[in-house]
Amino acid sequence: MLKVDHLSVNYGAIKAVRDVSFDLKKGEIVTLIGANGAGKSTILKTVSGLLHPASGDILFEGRSIAKMSAPKIVAEGISQVPEGRRIFAGMTVKENLQLGAYLRKDKDGIEKDMEAMFKRFPILKERLKQDAATLSGGEQQMLAMARALMARPKVLLLDEPSMGLAPIYIQEIFDIVKSINKEGMTVLLIEQNARQALSIADRGYVLASGEVKMSGTGHDLLNDPAVQKAYLGG
Ligand code: ATP
Repeated sequence: MLKVDHLSVNYGAIKAVRDVSFDLKKGEIVTLIGANGAGKSTILKTVSGLLHPASGDILFEGRSIAKMSAPKIVAEGISQVPEGRRIFAGMTVKENLQLGAYLRKDKDGIEKDMEAMFKRFPILKERLKQDAATLSGGEQQMLAMARALMARPKVLLLDEPSMGLAPIYIQEIFDIVKSINKEGMTVLLIEQNARQALSIADRGYVLASGEVKMSGTGHDLLNDPAVQKAYLGG
C-alpha cells in the first residue's frame, strides 16, 4: 500500500535519513523505532509531504507521492497525527474535529463519523464545547487521533502518540491504536516506547543514524537480544 524506496532526506548539509526502504501492507501496523535523532520524525514528515526527499521515492497505492503537497497527500488518503498533537487551542473540541474533515463535502457522512468518534472516544463528547487547550495530554492525543480519522484516511501516521503521557493513558492510547487497526485501518507508528510499539505491531524497523539497521515481525524484534539491549532496557 505504501512503499518507501531508497529514501534520503536532508536538512541542508545534515543527512537525516539515508537510503531508507520499508513498506506497509494494507491492514498492517508497522512501527519505526529508534533513539532520539534516528530520523523517525523526518521520515514521517516526508511521507506526509511536509518535507521532500533528496533522493528516493514514496509510492502510495503504486503512485509516487514524493513531490505532492501535504494537503494533496491528505486528499489521497494519508493522515498524520503530529508529534505533540498540535490541537488547535482557542477552538472547541468540536471545531477541531470539524477541521479534520475540511476536505470532505459529505455533510451526512461527517455527522456520522463524528458520532462514531464519540463512541470510540466518549470523553470527547463530554468535552465537545470546551476549548481544546483545556484537555489533558491524553485527551488531546485522543482528539488529535479523532481529528485525523475525520479525514477518513486509508493510512494513519502516528508520531510518538505516547510521548509525555501519564502511564494510564499510554496503555489506553496503544489499545485504541490496536482497535482502530482491527477495524481495518493501516497504521504507521513511530515510537520511542519500543516495547509497547513492537507488542502491537505486525512488523517493525529499527532506525539508527538515519538508516534501517534491522527489521522483522514485532514479535521477533521484541525477542531479539540486540534490540532488547539497545531499546528495551536489557
Ligand atoms: P525524535 O524522536 O527526537 O524526534 P527522530 O528519530 O524522530 O527523533 P528526527 O527528528 O527525524 O529524529 O531527526 C533526525 C536528524 O535530523 C537528527 O540528527 C536531527 O538533529 C536532525 N534534524 C531534525 N530536524 C531538523 C531541522 N529542522 N533542521 C536541521 N536538522 C534537523
